Amino acid sequence: MADHPLILDGKSVANKVKAEVKEQVDAFIAQHGRAPSLHVVLVGEDPASQVYVRNKGKAAKKVGIAGVTHTLPADTPQAVLMQLVSELNADPGVDGILVQLPLPKGLAEQPVLDLIDPGKDVDGLHAVNAGLLSAGRDALVACTPQGCMRLIAETGIALKGMDAVVVGRSNLVGKPVAQLLLQQHATVTIAHSRTRELDALCRRADVLVAAVGRAQMVKGDWIKPGAVVIDVGINRLDDGRLVGDVDFDGAKERASAITPVPGGVGPMTIAYLLQNTVLAAKARLS
Ligand code: NDP
Repeated sequence: MADHPLILDGKSVANKVKAEVKEQVDAFIAQHGRAPSLHVVLVGEDPASQVYVRNKGKAAKKVGIAGVTHTLPADTPQAVLMQLVSELNADPGVDGILVQLPLPKGLAEQPVLDLIDPGKDVDGLHAVNAGLLSAGRDALVACTPQGCMRLIAETGIALKGMDAVVVGRSNLVGKPVAQLLLQQHATVTIAHSRTRELDALCRRADVLVAAVGRAQMVKGDWIKPGAVVIDVGINRLDDGRLVGDVDFDGAKERASAITPVPGGVGPMTIAYLLQNTVLAAKARLS
């Protein structure tokens, strides 16, 4: 099996998810006479953020979601940004709100994220959604972790009783992916920068999720033979190449399935942003 690991093609799986979302959007429009709407707030002119926001808008349009971008200058006062979020919260035509991070220097992120109506929080970053997820209740769940779970599902692995190791404990990826694995009855260990003997821990993992942000940190011989390896990391090397947190060439010798970088988890994130927008719209209008 390890001679021919399954390379989990995030692009094609993301296209499947988007096709499913489009069907839900069509049904929503037929029932409610309008499209679900996603409002993205972009503050400042960070080129990477501009690209991300543009891509989100394009992807929304493709599945029939009404995408609206609110662009504010980098020197926007905190109060003005908060006012915009309050207005979006109050607007019944707004289903999803996403504030593109990072915010420019001088603007505090947490108060903005805390202000977003949890029912419109399509990034799943509000503490209410994080709390609902950890209580095993319906929530808007962060997009990248949902993408990881969908890729794991594509392998056909039954997670019940499996040892899963998540390296990274961010609110954005590590913690929610661990919660989702736990919901599927995996035995979950969360590792972080203070974890001892990380290599030995990883070698026990039937499912390994790396969400660290350190290029090729997870070595090939840290992989348990036959493991499913999900590499969330996106790191740019000095020569310009994009690589993950896992040494792909080494790991693919042992894994039964593995995500490439780029083209693995990355494309899944936008697909689940669209899915969350439809879920938020349906929940509000039901
Ligand atoms: P954060 O920086 O928020 O979290 C990184 C985590 O890795 C922390 O919990 C940190 O531990 C842990 N860590 C750091 N160094 C080590 C180490 N040497 N050994 C073990 N653990 C370590 O990152 P994010 O979770 O936001 O993102 C992780 C990666 O995923 C990044 O490369 C990011 O670009 C990528 N990403 C990709 C997305 C996609 O769509 N594909 C979406 C989101 C992120 P501690 O808590 O102790 O500091």
